[in-house]
Amino acid sequence: MLRVEGLSAWYGEAQALREVSMQVDEGEIVTLVGRNGAGKTTLLRCLMGLHGTYGRTTGTIALSGADVTALPPHARARRGLGYVPDDRGIYATLSVEENLTLAPPVKGGGPEPWSLERVYETFPHLKERRRSPGTTLSGGEQQMLVLARVLRTGARLLLCDEPTEGLSPLFVQRIGEILREVRAAGTTVLLVEQNVHFAATVADRHYLLAEGRIVESLDRDQVREREHQLLEYLGI
Ligand code: ATP
Repeated sequence: MLRVEGLSAWYGEAQALREVSMQVDEGEIVTLVGRNGAGKTTLLRCLMGLHGTYGRTTGTIALSGADVTALPPHARARRGLGYVPDDRGIYATLSVEENLTLAPPVKGGGPEPWSLERVYETFPHLKERRRSPGTTLSGGEQQMLVLARVLRTGARLLLCDEPTEGLSPLFVQRIGEILREVRAAGTTVLLVEQNVHFAATVADRHYLLAEGRIVESLDRDQVREREHQLLEYLGI
């Protein structure tokens, strides 16, 4: 589904990613874990084609076998990449429903795009607040809104930057349920996650990023066995 080879990225002269090579197979949930500043957000931005406004990149990114390295973000989105940024990217001047209806559907086959009815059935709070500005929702509801917005496109690969950050345990659990549901319906997921316990529960595999490099690839059991060690390493 996703293959990254030798990806490096700079902010001016400062190098943030160093020869990152990784892959995510269809149907997997994979997490990127690492300390603050390790390069996780930069990596997701590069995958989505958004790093160009910050600096240069080298390396290649392929999506379903096609090289998308030179494509702008909207073209990657049309090919099935969905992005949930860490700042959530909700438009303050638009209502919840307008935020939900912005993005065009993905081209070609893939998971069924969620209808508004399905979104409102799954997230009744969004229905109740559909005429309110998107940014007046609680943090947890905003996270549901951006997830729902991507699911409406029928994205094949969902890139999610710290979806559980700052959320109550109830919302964290709900996000876990939704990610599993989404995967069962055919969407592959790559998520940045600082909550190692959550990552271990929800994901099949994990990449550990340090100083812009992938230093380890761990499966579910390895993360469970090393949860305490990882928490200490991540400084949580
Ligand atoms: P966090 O969890 O704190 O967001 P991260 O692992 O996502 O950390 P990045 O945000 O990708 O890390 O940052 C990687 C490196 O790039 C860091 O050294 C950071 O200071 C630097 N960096 C990030 N954004 C910028 C920017 N806009 N301008 C300059 N340097 C940046």
